Amino acid sequence: MDFLDVPTVLKVSALFNLMAALAWLTLAQAFRIAPRAGRLMAAGHLVRIASQGCGDCMTGWPDLLRQATPEFGLLACMLLLLHALRRMLRSRQRPRDINWIAGLGAVGIALGLASGSGLAPQVASTLSVSALALLAVREIMRGIGDQLSRVVTVCMTLPFAALAVLTLAHAAELLLVPGWDDHILSGELPTPARAVLWFVVTAAITLSLIALMIWRLIKRIQHLTYRDPLTGALNRRAFEQALTEAQAQLQRGRGFALAMIDIDHFKRINDEHGHPAGDAALQHCVRIWQAALREVDQLGRLGGEEFCALLPLAGQGDLASAAIVAERLRSSLAGQPLRWKDIELPLSASFGVALPVPGDASGEIGLARADAELYRAKAEGRNRVCATELTGEMATA
Ligand code: GH3
Ligand code: MG
Ligand code: MG
Repeated sequence: MDFLDVPTVLKVSALFNLMAALAWLTLAQAFRIAPRAGRLMAAGHLVRIASQGCGDCMTGWPDLLRQATPEFGLLACMLLLLHALRRMLRSRQRPRDINWIAGLGAVGIALGLASGSGLAPQVASTLSVSALALLAVREIMRGIGDQLSRVVTVCMTLPFAALAVLTLAHAAELLLVPGWDDHILSGELPTPARAVLWFVVTAAITLSLIALMIWRLIKRIQHLTYRDPLTGALNRRAFEQALTEAQAQLQRGRGFALAMIDIDHFKRINDEHGHPAGDAALQHCVRIWQAALREVDQLGRLGGEEFCALLPLAGQGDLASAAIVAERLRSSLAGQPLRWKDIELPLSASFGVALPVPGDASGEIGLARADAELYRAKAEGRNRVCATELTGEMATA
């Protein structure tokens, strides 16, 4: 590393952080992409510049300030990045442990500075940053869950894990290797290798956060492309795609059922209470059905007040178990009226259930069979489940 001196590495790092801060601010302010997370990220990068210094730019500062700036700065930078990360991943858990660790770290640094020790403030900041980096790993794993492959999840968490290890190792070094107190108090710079290592970890963390933001954007676009904006159910296009895939799986022995759903006398709700009440009723129905379905089931809005549930079944599947699911959907809606402007609007729906078979030329054939059953449910008095070959058995008056 003879070709690199520490001030040069620190200046390159400061330039990198400045450019990253400007990029996040541009995304946040000009393009409205992850605005809050972007502003926090930008602030984190700017604080990083202030905290790392540029080698010789702190000479002449009062000792206390020269010592306090990097330690408080590093902690604040980590805290800002962690909150940005939480926003990006839409974390719902309260950040109590994060704030506690940051608070304890700040108190530790302040007490260390007050004691006049060179070591204590650095040990406090490195230990708290290490703990915060581990919390960042936890946040990413929670936020991604099983939505991405394990390899990708590990790649996203790796820079934060590296930071945790690096800071922990430094804390151990401070405590175990004699002479550190004098180095710090005399304001000695780190070696070029250390400065480069820190820069690489900072850059890797930035890349990981950019990757998370892109992932979030892709998810948002997918949501807009595949979901019905009013209810959040799959739109017709996405449902048809799911149906085609399920029909292909059927040839490989994985069965599924289709439950066509039509809300009863829906037009009356619009006519008597207005269109917004109709919209609220659609949202209410989807909320109830989504809660009653399993994660593997897919609910699509095929149009107006018509929906279809695609229910994967064990093996080739049997109609009776699919009809039981449909009955659960029917009874949960019938038992939960919509509250609309202080009145209760009772809602019900009719269901037609059918089992697609491998011989069907396409998923549309099974859909047509389920639709015929739905037609029968309407004709037989509504608020009931009808299923092929189960004539009347599941019908519920
Ligand atoms: P049935 O029991 O026979 O199914 O009667 P119905 O009144 O539910 O059926 P019909 O097909 O006569 O009426 C469906 C109504 O759904 C007509 C249409 O105005 C309304 N509708 C379709 N899409 C929307 C929507 O997005 N919002 C609202 N509020 N109403 C919608
Ligand atoms: Mg209807
Ligand atoms: Mg209809």
